[in-house]
Amino acid sequence: MKALVTGGAGFIGSHLCDYLVAQGHQVTVLDDLSTGSEENLRQLADAPNFEFVKGSILDAALVDDLVGSCDTVFHLAAAVGVHTIVDRPLESLRVNLHGTETVVDAAARHGARIMVASTSEVYGKNDADGLTEDADRILGSPLKSRWSYAAAKGLDELVAYVYGRETGIPTVITRFFNIVGPRQTGRYGMVVPRFVGQALAGEPITVYGDGTQRRCFGSVFDVVPAVVKLMDTPAAYNRAVNLGGMEEVSIRGLAERVIELTGSSSTIEYIPYEKAYGEGYEDMRRRMPDTSLAKELIGYEPTRRLDDIINSIVESKRS
Ligand code: UDP
Repeated sequence: MKALVTGGAGFIGSHLCDYLVAQGHQVTVLDDLSTGSEENLRQLADAPNFEFVKGSILDAALVDDLVGSCDTVFHLAAAVGVHTIVDRPLESLRVNLHGTETVVDAAARHGARIMVASTSEVYGKNDADGLTEDADRILGSPLKSRWSYAAAKGLDELVAYVYGRETGIPTVITRFFNIVGPRQTGRYGMVVPRFVGQALAGEPITVYGDGTQRRCFGSVFDVVPAVVKLMDTPAAYNRAVNLGGMEEVSIRGLAERVIELTGSSSTIEYIPYEKAYGEGYEDMRRRMPDTSLAKELIGYEPTRRLDDIINSIVESKRS
């Protein structure tokens, strides 16, 4: 395959590039390095089947040029992380809305197949036990920037879906549930690398709220092969597919686990949401995926447990 990976210098994107390059595919990355880094791709710099292009998905001519010379697009470029979205809502919206439309439109004109990365955020405040792909979205006020990511990603899905239906290009929408692994930075929110970084530095672990909110963390090493398989699975076209882990944990429980696995002397510090994210922030109480559709389509079974996931980050930060 000749693949274009937008956001390929980011956390999931760079692991996807490693996987595709190792399989012998031709890979081009388009990334503006806003939250990603070239460091994430250093190991691929000399690979003959790899190329890095620094640029924005808002640059329609560049996107058109790159999409035109490949057959498969993995669209992962996005403004991500709660802090990014809350602090820079306009830039986030531009990239997440207009950027996605630009990439999908180019794929449609060139007849490339495309995967559009989405997120469990699209379910909003729906905290059902095992969210299936047809679960309702429950979002707060459209004028609260906190919900802008969920709103934009929901529209991204619709763009992918409508283009897929009307132009016939194969599209796959992947809904990632709290995917974690080496190279993920805690700078923009992501709780696991933050907690591991704090534990290794002996600093207090910053639990927002009372720590009873629950998440189900998935490993990037489980998810990346699944993304590629879905792209090769016609039954997955024009659908949204949940991808994530299997082990639910409270954020307080996560903090305790990180302290134990790192042998850290850190204490847990509880920080009110207003102080962490600003006035009026609403957290999701719980986010638990039902991944049976991915299992049915490609035999997806997450294999890494929470401890494995935490340990992989600890190792990468120590090395
Ligand atoms: N969180 C926390 N401390 C931090 C960062 C995040 O307690 O330093 C919490 C956050 O409020 C949320 C959970 O950890 O309840 C997961 O946050 P993350 O930003 O990783 O992902 P989200 O599920 O919010 O998209």
